[in-house]
Amino acid sequence: MSTASEDAQLKSPSYPSNCLHFLRNADKKSTKSTNEGNDSTVQLDIAIVGAGIAGLATAIALARKKHTVTIYEQAERLAEVGAGIQIPPNSTRLLLNLGLGPYLEKYVTEPGSVLMRRWQNGKVIGKTRLYPEFREQFDAPYWVIHRAHLHEAMHRLAVDLGVTVKLVSRVISYDVEVPSLTLESGSTVLADFVVAADGLKSSARKVILGDDDYFPKRTGFVAYRTVVDVEHVKNDPQVSWLLEKPSFNLWLGDNKHVMTYIIGAGKSFNMVFNCADPSDPAEWSQDMYTLLDSIRREFRGWDPVLMRLTQMIDKTMKWPLYSGSTMPRWVAGKLVILGDAAHSMIPYMSQGAAIAVEDGVALANSIDKISCKDSIPLALSIFENVRIKRASRMQEASLLNSKLWHFPDGPTQQERDKAMEAEVEGRPFSHSPNQWSDPATQMWCFG
Ligand SMILES: Cc1cc2nc3c(=O)[nH]c(=O)nc-3n(C[C@H](O)[C@H](O)[C@H](O)COP(=O)(O)OP(=O)(O)OC[C@H]3O[C@@H](n4cnc5c(N)ncnc54)[C@H](O)[C@@H]3O)c2cc1C
Repeated sequence: MSTASEDAQLKSPSYPSNCLHFLRNADKKSTKSTNEGNDSTVQLDIAIVGAGIAGLATAIALARKKHTVTIYEQAERLAEVGAGIQIPPNSTRLLLNLGLGPYLEKYVTEPGSVLMRRWQNGKVIGKTRLYPEFREQFDAPYWVIHRAHLHEAMHRLAVDLGVTVKLVSRVISYDVEVPSLTLESGSTVLADFVVAADGLKSSARKVILGDDDYFPKRTGFVAYRTVVDVEHVKNDPQVSWLLEKPSFNLWLGDNKHVMTYIIGAGKSFNMVFNCADPSDPAEWSQDMYTLLDSIRREFRGWDPVLMRLTQMIDKTMKWPLYSGSTMPRWVAGKLVILGDAAHSMIPYMSQGAAIAVEDGVALANSIDKISCKDSIPLALSIFENVRIKRASRMQEASLLNSKLWHFPDGPTQQERDKAMEAEVEGRPFSHSPNQWSDPATQMWCFG
């Protein structure tokens, strides 16, 4: 059956425009999900390295297309460190399409808005309305979840779809032409192509680029990722209002910010304290009391609400923040990198994992177009072309937030806050320094 866009003989214009948005609903009625079934006539054996969010998303998307997928993961058991993670609509739309809804829904929270606040007193200076506005505009919810829940849900779906996950399987080398990979145990695995989703410290990236020049760089910022039992927040009248309407609350100040939201299906309160810190991570202590002292010292004089919350912290860890740069290629022979291996970014658009999920679906869709194994390099190069552009935009937008959010008090900060007044007051606006609200950014970022 043809789609409405095909009937009307309309292709998206090369310039940014929403003029064909209306066709989406018509297309949705007339077509099956793009993630179901295999349009390709070839069935492939695919090896994936790494069972993080990128590896699992890619495995699910390829298994949905009826390919045989095996993941090789170095860890002894699967677990995600860290606390909360945002799943913006460009990612939820795909995860729901892949069938993750029933696996995820009981764990997620859907915040009503993003509230940007002044560092000193919590006054709202920016506001993005997420629910129901984002759902309606982008056809998918904006969720938050505990990382462990997202990871476990993706792992369960992958296994249900027939993906084999081999733990304690560290890959030590690749042959990109055969293609094959060799495990630490000495055994060599052959596949039709190999996907390396081996994270920020990727060894496959070096194989593809020939040197280590593209190792992600320290941004100079660190994140203290903390979790508080929601009961502590509920029992304190000075901060309990934060739970009344689940929202992102984001305090902005001079070279620092704090992001908070509810996770764990309403049981935990997630807080990330961000500040500049050029010291060497090798010298850091992860002792909770040392870290708590550092947080309180760094954020002394900030909104008393935040100071109160720091007294409730149950768990914390300090994390260096990296950003990769745009790479000339993600593919060599029949080896492709994706996820953080290809495009690590400072997490200030909350998009690193979301872009990894997009990668997985895009790769499966590109492979789906081929009719013989000889075309695998072509499918990989089309994937690479499209995705390098998209990922590098998001890296750039994320770095831009590290400037927009961190102005010291003064004329630029005042102009920024003034430019967000319309969104706070609910008046129409055509641009905003808040990239969640800015209509032009929203369109390519979440659309
Ligand atoms: C503070 C912070 C907050 C963030 N918040 C968000 C957010 O809200 N939303 C969002 O979308 N993103 C967010 N991100 C980014 C997101 O966490 C990452 O982009 C994402 O987790 C990367 O997933 P990955 O699978 O590419 O890499 P990883 O999670 O690093 O997984 C790589 C896997 O490969 C395995 N591996 C590595 N080498 C080998 C080998 N040789 N052999 C076998 N296995 C190997 C590793 O053990 C690991 O399991 C945040 C990041 C940080 C630091």
